[in-house]
Amino acid sequence: MRVASYKNTTLDERYDAIIVGSGLGGLTTALLLAQRGKRVLVLERHWVLGGFTHVFKRKEWEWDVGVHYVGEVHREGSVLRRLFDHLTDGELQWADMGEVYDRIWFGDTEYALRSGVKNFKADMSERFPAEKDAIARYLDLVFEVSKASRSFYAEKALGDVTAFLGGRLLRRSYMSFARRTTYDVLRELTSDEKLIGVLTGQYGDYGLPPRQSSFAMHATLVKHYFSGGAYPIGGSARIAETFAPRIEALGGTLVTRAAAEEIVVEHGKAVGVRMEDGRTLRADMVISNAGVLNTFGRLLGDVGKARVGATDKLAKLRPSLAHASLYIGLDGSRESLNLPRANHWVYPDDYDHDRTIARFEADEDAPLPVAYISFPSAKDPSHAQRHPDKSTIEIVTLMPWQRVAKWADTPWKKRGEEYDALKERWSNRLLAKLYEREPHLQGKIAFHELSTPLSTQHFTAYQHGEIYGLSHDPNRFEQRFLRPQTPVSGLYLTGQDVCTCGVGGALVSGFLTASAITRSNMLMDVLRA
Ligand SMILES: Cc1cc2nc3c(=O)[nH]c(=O)nc-3n(C[C@H](O)[C@H](O)[C@H](O)COP(=O)(O)OP(=O)(O)OC[C@H]3O[C@@H](n4cnc5c(N)ncnc54)[C@H](O)[C@@H]3O)c2cc1C
Repeated sequence: MRVASYKNTTLDERYDAIIVGSGLGGLTTALLLAQRGKRVLVLERHWVLGGFTHVFKRKEWEWDVGVHYVGEVHREGSVLRRLFDHLTDGELQWADMGEVYDRIWFGDTEYALRSGVKNFKADMSERFPAEKDAIARYLDLVFEVSKASRSFYAEKALGDVTAFLGGRLLRRSYMSFARRTTYDVLRELTSDEKLIGVLTGQYGDYGLPPRQSSFAMHATLVKHYFSGGAYPIGGSARIAETFAPRIEALGGTLVTRAAAEEIVVEHGKAVGVRMEDGRTLRADMVISNAGVLNTFGRLLGDVGKARVGATDKLAKLRPSLAHASLYIGLDGSRESLNLPRANHWVYPDDYDHDRTIARFEADEDAPLPVAYISFPSAKDPSHAQRHPDKSTIEIVTLMPWQRVAKWADTPWKKRGEEYDALKERWSNRLLAKLYEREPHLQGKIAFHELSTPLSTQHFTAYQHGEIYGLSHDPNRFEQRFLRPQTPVSGLYLTGQDVCTCGVGGALVSGFLTASAITRSNMLMDVLRA
């Protein structure tokens, strides 16, 4: 969503809270604080609001950058749905993707994921009859993690003293799952490597293969989609479009093209931000939605860095993997092009995800380890009305940052012939994956454009083009400083690095941050109401 730019807006010298970044975590914190009477200012460096929930257009087509499907929100009583309904008065609406939401392919073998745990259990047991017990035990573990996650995340909003006294206990159960890799846990249940490959067939949703990812992250993600997937009606831009006017109506201000250069710390307290033009905007508190690596590594000056112990803390963290996305435009409606709503996860005929990634990282010409194909226009019931006779497809794959790092200092859209040739090569490889699964679309593509990790860096400031902020490995969950409160008084974190990546993770982080600031449990307040 576009709002006035920093340059064209008269800003006050002082606010109650400045929020750096307008991703979903930032917008949620801003709206909740505005509801509590705080005067908030949201600064976004891009020219549109929303972070990874923003959309972009070329000719008559429009694509989502970082929202393909969200779990739970299409179920009336679910926690996420109630939180979104509270924030947007039910204005943000969701379309169910239907019974099958993901199709996982290894070569030509398909495993369709149908909504409902019973369906999941029945389908997996039918495909792996010898592993029926292992599948039942797996589901038990997934639900155990989900139960344990409540106190783990609630602990993040506690004040320092309470967290110090009771934190270990609240974290214990979840950490018993979080500090183990997905592969370790699954291998204890089954020795069937094909089953492990299928159960982790959505690993792209958290960006790490089973031998590297935390089992807690894996379990959280698969449970999130057990009831199927949903898509925001009107596209992911609807998120910022429904949040921003409510923030403004409560006296808040949002500006784009507003890059914060430094979080100003005086006498151990965050007192505002210094902008690129040198102006300092002051506030009682600063909330950073820019990611932990940016906040501690780049936005804090030397004094702030020393205060948070940035060098030690950042040394323990890894950025998540980087990605490339192919944005495809077609002429024709969903019906005329026969586009599905379910996503395809296309893998080589090799069920070992760690091996396929390692092979590909060593050799660009090795088979693509994953191609995730999404059909956003087919998922959105309002699309035909908004863009008659136009359709869109998005394909996401992993692209190591090193592949494009040498062009990091070149300007957007003018990175040179060699870079353009690399983009063309990758585009063709991804199109070939699309034709493997939907051969009838050959010759129907009217437009395509590839984004690389450099695009992610350019538009969202994640410095390694990382897809999901911090890597979701076991070590990440050990870091107790990944919480709203920081060692700098008046400086708070929000967004995907606080909880986990994903629309759900960012939304919950916004509630935790606002709760930590107001010393109340805003999440429970909404759920009780
Ligand atoms: C390709 C892709 C596909 C995805 N698909 C899904 C999906 O299908 N379902 C799902 O649930 N999740 C998905 N996600 C993940 C989800 O979109 C993110 O986890 C979530 O939106 C992150 O929200 P956030 O609050 O952390 O903020 P972000 O979206 O990370 O936004 C941070 C904002 O801060 C701004 N910023 C940074 N530095 C500054 C500064 N100095 N000054 C001002 N502003 C600054 C950035 O420009 C950005 O707008 C996907 C992500 C990607 C990349």
